Amino acid sequence: MSTAVADVHVEAKESLKGKPGPILLLGAPGVGKGTQAKELVAKWGVPQISTGDLLRYNRDHGTPLGLKAKEVMAAGKLVPDDLVNEMVAERLKQPDTANGYILDGFPRTLGQAKWLDEHIGAETLPVIAVSIGVGYNELLRRITGRRSCPKCGTIYNIHFQPPKVDEKCDLDGTPLVRRSDDTEEVFRERMRTYDSQTAPVVEHYRALGRFEEVNGDQAVSAVAAGVEAAVARLRNSSTKNQQRREG
Ligand code: AMP
Repeated sequence: MSTAVADVHVEAKESLKGKPGPILLLGAPGVGKGTQAKELVAKWGVPQISTGDLLRYNRDHGTPLGLKAKEVMAAGKLVPDDLVNEMVAERLKQPDTANGYILDGFPRTLGQAKWLDEHIGAETLPVIAVSIGVGYNELLRRITGRRSCPKCGTIYNIHFQPPKVDEKCDLDGTPLVRRSDDTEEVFRERMRTYDSQTAPVVEHYRALGRFEEVNGDQAVSAVAAGVEAAVARLRNSSTKNQQRREG
């Protein structure tokens, strides 16, 4: 590396000190990735990038990507890597990602994970991954009870976090909606997809020493505290490892 390039590299790292950098939230459908991502967003002011939300937006607006993704999503299967990677690449070009971002629901395959590692390169902080773990039966209850407000995005659950007025948002009174893939049948397929394609992503980051799992079967605030502590430990150790490699 030439001196000029090395200097830029160090400068980029210095300016990122104390910033969250790229954080991946992993976990099966219904573990609460979206809810926890919002907690992290509130704490750090970095954006949440949910590939599920971006794909639903494209589907609902009938874009070329949305038309390709529609059937696959309805069946609980995964949208092809190249389409999702391209969508994420576009999103990461936005200036609001400069200090970091929370990727929610991405990467979901080993191919996506390897693409991400290469795409973000050495100029940013290393990717760290936190998975939220919840048992199968609890997930099924969460998924089938999940409702959200289409206007403000608040998430409810009719079993254990119901709105004050049946099926209406507490904040703005908008009728709540249920995601079309939140049925028991599609859930089972999404779990099969998770076990076969996403579990290897966990192993990938575990092998790199950039992974922790948090027990998701607790109150939202307790999970949030666990996620934050895991992020702090991982960020600390990944920075130290990097300094060791560079020094
Ligand atoms: P989610 O809201 O994260 O549960 O995503 C809903 C659906 O969008 C999934 O069941 C997939 O069909 C699709 N999807 C979301 N993220 C990805 C991804 N990273 N790779 C492929 N498909 C995805």
